[in-house]
Amino acid sequence: MNKNRHPTGPAGMTRRRFLATAAGSALAAAFGGLPRFAGAAEPLILPPLPFGEGALEPVISARTISFHYGKHHRGYFDNLLRLIAGTEYAGMPLDRIVAATAGRPDRAAIFNNAAQTWNHTFYWRSLKPKGGGEPPAGLKRRIESSFGSVGACRKALAEAAAAQFGSGWAWLIRDGGTLKAARTPNAEIPAGKEVVPLLVIDVWEHAYYLDYQNRRAAYVEALIEKLLNWEFAAGNLGAA
Ligand code: MN
Repeated sequence: MNKNRHPTGPAGMTRRRFLATAAGSALAAAFGGLPRFAGAAEPLILPPLPFGEGALEPVISARTISFHYGKHHRGYFDNLLRLIAGTEYAGMPLDRIVAATAGRPDRAAIFNNAAQTWNHTFYWRSLKPKGGGEPPAGLKRRIESSFGSVGACRKALAEAAAAQFGSGWAWLIRDGGTLKAARTPNAEIPAGKEVVPLLVIDVWEHAYYLDYQNRRAAYVEALIEKLLNWEFAAGNLGAA
């Protein structure tokens, strides 16, 4: 920590520290909008997969799910537990840990592992065997008013997934009264006062490389067509 002799923020904080804290507080308020879907609120459990490891075949293999859930997701969760042990974050719900550490460079490791834990739990619920197809009527109307058609929404999601350079996530979000496709790098979550995530597609290479190698677009298109859980999005929107 920089022992700045000329603090300009309140309570003797350095200016840099004050700004980081202020930005963190704004983000913490923004993350109040994360959906409290089942399994996301408890900090100290790794929620089980909502389906069997082979249930998404042939779009995503059991081997990919086994590594993705058993090694990657579990790895983020185990890292999180280790990082928060004995800190003020121990015992907090997962979404509060995400909110409290977002935008704080001094808490980047906790944020990254907490957000990745949250994102993966959200991702598993964004998928289902025999998914895809048409959204429930209420969600479909909202999609049509925002994108023009369900097909245009699917295309926007695929484009967001393709446009994310390197590791990250493609999302369906509600931004104010409008539904949009969005993308984020690494562990970032699109959340704000008026921004709520509804669905997510993992576009880290570990999500598809065993099955599709470098063909991210083939993975994304198959996932959107055959696995997307529109009912989960409708629930997060409050519009079944
Ligand atoms: Mn992943």
